[in-house]
Amino acid sequence: MLFRSEVQDNGKLFAEMFGQCNYVPNWYYYYGGLADKIEGSVIPIDKPGVFNFTRREPLGVIAAIVAWNSPLLLATWKLAPALAAGNTVVWKPSEYSSVSALEFGKLFEKAGFPPGVVNIVTGFGADVGEPLIKHPNVSKVAFTGGDKTGERVYALAAQGIKKVTLELGGKAPVVVFDDADLSLVAETLRFASYWNSGQDCTAACRVLVGNKKFDNFVADFTAQVKDMKWGDPTSGDELEMGSLISGEQVQRVAGMVDRAKAAPGVEVTAGGSAPSLAGAYFEPTVLVNPDQRSEIVQDEVFGPVVTIQRFTDEDHAIKWANDCRFGLASSVWTNDVGRAMRVSKALQFGAVWVNDHFTLVSEMPHGGFKESGYGKDQSMYALEDYTVAKHVMVRSE
Ligand code: NAP
Repeated sequence: MLFRSEVQDNGKLFAEMFGQCNYVPNWYYYYGGLADKIEGSVIPIDKPGVFNFTRREPLGVIAAIVAWNSPLLLATWKLAPALAAGNTVVWKPSEYSSVSALEFGKLFEKAGFPPGVVNIVTGFGADVGEPLIKHPNVSKVAFTGGDKTGERVYALAAQGIKKVTLELGGKAPVVVFDDADLSLVAETLRFASYWNSGQDCTAACRVLVGNKKFDNFVADFTAQVKDMKWGDPTSGDELEMGSLISGEQVQRVAGMVDRAKAAPGVEVTAGGSAPSLAGAYFEPTVLVNPDQRSEIVQDEVFGPVVTIQRFTDEDHAIKWANDCRFGLASSVWTNDVGRAMRVSKALQFGAVWVNDHFTLVSEMPHGGFKESGYGKDQSMYALEDYTVAKHVMVRSE
């Protein structure tokens, strides 16, 4: 039922949702195991007659507001650590994809959570999200969504000096050096660029390739993309890509692709338009040689569109990869370990994969640099973000 509801709400594939539903419990196991390991410390100070220690306490009520693209997973990244740290949660899913949240809520009831610990409110962000953020009982807003909404959420939370975690947009560069295994890159990106129709904050959407292998890579990757099977997510298990969230999103993607295509020098090697099918579809698309400062390279498309650009050397690759206001995820592809270490240090992104792209795990932090937000989902860092340190000083003499 859970995965069916997101296929229906979102247009994701059954396979994508099946995988995600198997993946979601990891976070509850991980944070469940940490719930009794939240420790304070005894701190010696240079003052006689007092005993000092710290406690880590829950914050209180957490407002968890999440985007529509992976509703259960995104909410889990907030619910699991917030609950493990002893908070209560009011969860507002996107109105575009709220069915799975309501179904998931029943599981908390079934698991024996006391009433009031996990609460779900539905409705659009402006009508329901804003009053929730402003509510005086809310201590922290844990938000996943677009950067413009993030700015609004941040401003509203500032009114009550509330804590905020912002998981915002991304524009992940994929830096492919000449010594990389090109077929591995192409195969990985076939999945990591088009999973959920590219509607993912870590989608491998901005590929930078070294001079020598550029033409080979464009040919290989284009062949992979043209070979992809996509369409109505309910029509078969063979599919690799389903539909976008809405007709409005298709129009947004089409507008960006049309403007990119109109620029001199840009070549469309795969896809490039919305097919004349009922529903919300856009062809898996590859755009080659867009300008570094162009909209298609700088802004989040949130659709099945990959750009490929050519770089001359390592400095050039790093410069272009970092030349973007977002800083969520990135990857570097090389067989030179020294280069992998140098480039992973230089990339200004919250995650850098080496010879991989997309894998997220409960134990490691997920969150952005720059305008991709701040604070972390996942890992011990997220757990800490749902607690506050208290100093207790006891007169002992
Ligand atoms: P969005 O429009 O910003 O919406 C995100 C959530 O905020 C939804 O629940 C939305 O509710 C709510 N909302 C909208 N306006 C609000 C307001 N004024 N006050 C309070 N809440 C408000 O984003 P989206 O289009 O759903 O999601 C796509 C974006 O999310 C992309 O930029 C993507 O990169 C980002 N994202 C980031 C991560 C990450 O981990 N960094 C993960 C996934 C997605 P309604 O939809 O009901 O109006």
